[in-house]
Amino acid sequence: MKCPKCGGYGKITNYKHVEGGVCFLCWGTGAITAEQHVEFQEDENKKAARREKRWTSYEELQAQKKLHEDRIQNGYYKKKREEEEKSRIRKLQERHAVDNPDFVQKTADESFKEFFKLLDDE
Ligand SMILES: [Zn+2]
Repeated sequence: MKCPKCGGYGKITNYKHVEGGVCFLCWGTGAITAEQHVEFQEDENKKAARREKRWTSYEELQAQKKLHEDRIQNGYYKKKREEEEKSRIRKLQERHAVDNPDFVQKTADESFKEFFKLLDDE
């Protein structure tokens, strides 16, 4: 069968620098067996599948990047940080004044936020 790698030419011009460009599939004869042809085709299909997989991964990555940028855009991380801070402050309030709504109310403002941060570092 005609070698599909070199097109029956026996040499691959793009690989002149490697062993004078001799085709490594047919070793310069320009012909291969039917069995070799099947193997070659299977290898090519595997390579194509790997390329496809890389492409999909890249698209997934692009989608993740887009999601991340969207989240920055709509303040997702900022909200998340604020929620975490609120929850931390709530825990501290609970630790320092269990079931005391008056205390919680009184310590809800900005000045106490800083104070609670200091307590949190204890
Ligand atoms: Zn060849």
